[in-house]
Amino acid sequence: MPRTSPAPSPAAFADAGLAPVGTLAGVGPSLAARLDRIGIRHLQDLWFHLPLRYEDRTRLTAIADLRVGASAQVLATVDAVERGFRYRPQLRVALVDASQQTLTLRFFHFQRAQVERFTPGARVLCFGEVRQGQYGPEIIHPEYRLLAEAAPLQLEDRLTPVYPTTEGIGQRRIGELVARALERLPEAAALELIPAALCHEAGLASLRACLLVLHRPPRDADVAALLAGTHPAQGRLAFEELLAHHLGLRELRDRVRRRRAPALCGNQGLPQRLLAALPFALTAAQQRVVAQIDADLAEATPMLRLVQGDVGSGKTVLAALAAARAIDAGVQVALVAPTELLAEQHRQTLRAWFEPFGVEPVWLAGKVSGRARSSALAAVAAGAPLVIGTHALMQEAVVFSRLGLVIVDEQHRFGVHQRLSLSEKGRHGDRVPHQLVLTATPIPRTLAMAAYADLDVSVVDELPPGRTPVRTVLVAASRRGEVVERIREACGQGRQAYWVCTLIEEADEADAARGRSRDAQAAQVAWQELALALPGLRVGLVHGRLKPREKQATMQAFKAGELDVLVATTVIEVGVDVPNASLMIIENAERLGLAQLHQLRGRVGRGAQASSCVLLYQPPLSALARARLQVLRETNDGFRIAERDLELRGPGEVLGTRQTGAVEFRIADLARDGELLPLVQRIATRLRERDPAAAQRIVARWVGSTIHYAGA
Ligand code: ADP
Ligand code: MG
Repeated sequence: MPRTSPAPSPAAFADAGLAPVGTLAGVGPSLAARLDRIGIRHLQDLWFHLPLRYEDRTRLTAIADLRVGASAQVLATVDAVERGFRYRPQLRVALVDASQQTLTLRFFHFQRAQVERFTPGARVLCFGEVRQGQYGPEIIHPEYRLLAEAAPLQLEDRLTPVYPTTEGIGQRRIGELVARALERLPEAAALELIPAALCHEAGLASLRACLLVLHRPPRDADVAALLAGTHPAQGRLAFEELLAHHLGLRELRDRVRRRRAPALCGNQGLPQRLLAALPFALTAAQQRVVAQIDADLAEATPMLRLVQGDVGSGKTVLAALAAARAIDAGVQVALVAPTELLAEQHRQTLRAWFEPFGVEPVWLAGKVSGRARSSALAAVAAGAPLVIGTHALMQEAVVFSRLGLVIVDEQHRFGVHQRLSLSEKGRHGDRVPHQLVLTATPIPRTLAMAAYADLDVSVVDELPPGRTPVRTVLVAASRRGEVVERIREACGQGRQAYWVCTLIEEADEADAARGRSRDAQAAQVAWQELALALPGLRVGLVHGRLKPREKQATMQAFKAGELDVLVATTVIEVGVDVPNASLMIIENAERLGLAQLHQLRGRVGRGAQASSCVLLYQPPLSALARARLQVLRETNDGFRIAERDLELRGPGEVLGTRQTGAVEFRIADLARDGELLPLVQRIATRLRERDPAAAQRIVARWVGSTIHYAGA
């Protein structure tokens, strides 16, 4: 495609970093479009397109010293070559080096000419990740070069950066582009957006120098630190990235705060009457949070409050009381939950609680269609006081007449955008609804600061009285029979049990879909087996592939005590509340994250009787897997578990950002850089006071194009 207009000269841009990538030699519209897909539009996006990692081709590793899982460069000679067809064509080349050990190179795609050049005795320089093969170490599809007999060996003198790429742009290409963009990197003072005095205060090194070190680590760079991500230059960039996110969230919060919200002061006494009718008294922690929410709702500025409380701490009633207050003041309330099962359960709970007061929740989930849907939509538009549902509430067709409070349960399953898109429905001019967000995922404080800087946080740090901690045990899958016996015993005493099936950890969406169906299959099989092994007991089954109505009917039966055992997939992970269930078996527990296991386990221990949780695992357990499961045995405290999970697995998993895309850092790693956050907060405050324009440019540089604030 020919260019329609000549690219403007770089000088045309006051800020060199904002020149479009099209101003680089060799970048035409089609390449620019591909770069755009990974958020690279301007020169500065290339400057800040940092290596994911580095490969070390500056030295050789002896075969005897290879470590499985690490990448290494090896110089060796061909010992034997074997072409075979086991399942599929493959080529294996055995190399030996001075250490007298053998390394196998394995190829599944190769050409005839390639095979012929591997003659015994040929010298090969190869690089790749080492795996444990059948006959010792091997590398699959290594990068390699055959060296002429006497050719002098030339190793790289710098670490090789490995950049994130996208389809159609190879590693080499992106490396060249970055290098070309770096030629236009301005001098240090022009690149720095943080004012000099603040840089000094925070002890920040020159950004320019740090960028150059990271893109082209010099020979004497601390290689080990770079590879581990702990090099000071990485710390400097991580700081700026965290600063940018934090500034962005605070800007978002300010924008919302500048808006107005209805001050909710009702006069019918609905919250008081609801409270009086509850079968229990609030815990001190619940009372404290209710007071905080009430104070927020009485203001004419929008509430933005996150309520964090461990599973079973009783957050639903807090949502109900906030809803009662809003309804009392004559506005509409929307309560949204991430799964249909959980939303349905809220509907039942709130319906029962509100029934005496003549409030009937309107139900809107994805599966509601036809006439039911149009009448629900009409009711919402006509001002129905309480609307409960799933993501379906966020659809365009849903129009409220006076939405005053949005409650989002299990926030970690939604992204910032989704939360905001719902509150947008209640916007009239600069008037927006109040927002209450509930989460059981206990987020360590450092993470909460980074992820939810736009929210006020309340913590429900007390469980309702009369709970006995869940006893957790690890049992090898080979002892399944004993576990089944245990179920028979427990159910014989009138208790109920969950049997949770999990198969694989999903890597992406497609996998997730497949994974869910494989989970469903596994659940089906387990259900048949258990029904056979436990004659006389009533065994039910729920999984994601059942129709919502079937799911609900089964859940209802379990809740009503008409089923003894419920075989389920992780669909029951969030929110399901059946107090009489006191035994939970989780299959393949080693495949799940700690937070998820803790959530699942939270389904038991809700009544007065002692509960237990059996984590079935497939031996052998790796040391890490054992360490992780051990944490669950040791504590029932979700906050401690989250802290440990963070240490063991990193923040992306803990926050569940893979699902929401809420926080994605390019270089910062909260487990590693979390300690920077207090400083980030302090510098952010100063910067916003002294130089708001610079603050905005920092946000634009790091997150400008990725977070977009949905009109908040
Ligand atoms: P979560 O915080 O996990 O959402 P729920 O709101 O589902 O917890 O509450 C768990 C159970 O505890 C429910 O059966 C609820 O009715 C009960 N509950 C909540 N608050 C109290 C309380 N103060 N005293 C006794 N039971 C309570
Ligand atoms: Mg809940």
